[in-house]
Amino acid sequence: MTCRKKKVLILGSTGSIGINTLRVLSRFPDCFEVVGLTAHHNWRLLAEQAKLFRPKYVAIGQKHILALKLVLNSPRIKILAVERDLAFLTVLPDVDIVVIAMSGRLALEPFLCAAQAGKHIAPANKEALVIAGEMIMAATAKSGARIIPVDSEQSAIFQCLQGNHIKDLKKIYLTASGGALYNTPRQNFDALTIADILNHPRWKMGKKITVDSATLMNKGFEVLEAQRLFAVDVNKVDVVIHPQAIVHSMVSFKDGSVLAQLGMTDMRLPIQYALTYPQRWDSGLPALDFTKLGQLTFAKPDLRKFPCLGLALQVARVGGTLPTVLNAADEEAVQAFLAGQIRFSQIFKVVDKVVQTHKVQKRLTLKMVQDVDAQERLKAKALIAKIK
Ligand code: NDP
Ligand code: MG
Repeated sequence: MTCRKKKVLILGSTGSIGINTLRVLSRFPDCFEVVGLTAHHNWRLLAEQAKLFRPKYVAIGQKHILALKLVLNSPRIKILAVERDLAFLTVLPDVDIVVIAMSGRLALEPFLCAAQAGKHIAPANKEALVIAGEMIMAATAKSGARIIPVDSEQSAIFQCLQGNHIKDLKKIYLTASGGALYNTPRQNFDALTIADILNHPRWKMGKKITVDSATLMNKGFEVLEAQRLFAVDVNKVDVVIHPQAIVHSMVSFKDGSVLAQLGMTDMRLPIQYALTYPQRWDSGLPALDFTKLGQLTFAKPDLRKFPCLGLALQVARVGGTLPTVLNAADEEAVQAFLAGQIRFSQIFKVVDKVVQTHKVQKRLTLKMVQDVDAQERLKAKALIAKIK
């Protein structure tokens, strides 16, 4: 293993991806230095992480700055405001790699800045790519930034495409474990508790993405992500249910060959690849034992049982401002579901209504995306209030 020490900024270090990223980095202290860590509310965990990794910068929600300052008690670590300073952090000359592990649409601005500044970007965040993927990819092409995706499916596709030409690609097969409700009849969905929905059979993730996995909206977002990251037509992306979550995605080429990426169901694998690309280092994770895997199965998704996926595919075909609307309405609906304000099946109803009533605009600008996001959230909130 050869390495030149790289300086890493993690946006969202206190979440599921952020914590796993720090676990990966801590295995290679000679190759990586943590220069910045950020969180929104969880100042206690951020302080613990900062004491361990000694970054130059930390950023936290404004109302927690004082608490963080008191507990850190270190003049060496600069404390910034997460609402204001993420863009500043991403463009620091000190930063080689930006890991975008924060959730939500607010990752868009720092993502764009990192792309414009030509950084090595490891995005787990999908919201920014869904709503403004074209803008991000254009900035990346212009600056020479490189994006090595962390989302396991996008990482798999990226890996399968290495050494191949995108013009020879025939199909992308995006695999989906099926989420918590794959084996539950649709009529029972609303009888389940929030805890049941959050009990994902394969992956341990943040709450929002776990609910999106149960509705299969997450897979719809991933179709949009793949469309942007690999510049492919949506008709070239097929979703395949693969409950064992061992094949992380596949691609087929014009000659009929199919390449797949397989691995343990552990996010540390795609995270490490995104950090060490184009090298591969020992991850310390157990090897796949094919003799113990049993069957690997594949099936078509049921779009009547999981209408959010069908809706996302429709949205992907239209593009423009519609993906922003899908993301905004879904974020509001899932939040309302997690707060006990609406039932599970009402997530689709709210999102569908907001999407179907939106007047699509093309040729996106950042301002347009921000305005549409704000307007459509209000629409979703009003619908949710009527349900209550
Ligand atoms: P979590 O909810 O576990 O963590 C979210 C992180 O973002 C936390 O550090 C949180 O801080 C921070 N954060 C939340 N809101 C804001 C905000 N407004 N401003 C700044 N920081 C904020 O999410 P996950 O780690 O599960 O997911 C992160 C992203 O990665 C999502 O976009 C998700 O879709 C994507 N992803 C996740 C996967 C997974 O396995 N978890 C797999 C593939 C993609 P705090 O803790 O202080 O609230
Ligand atoms: Mg994924």
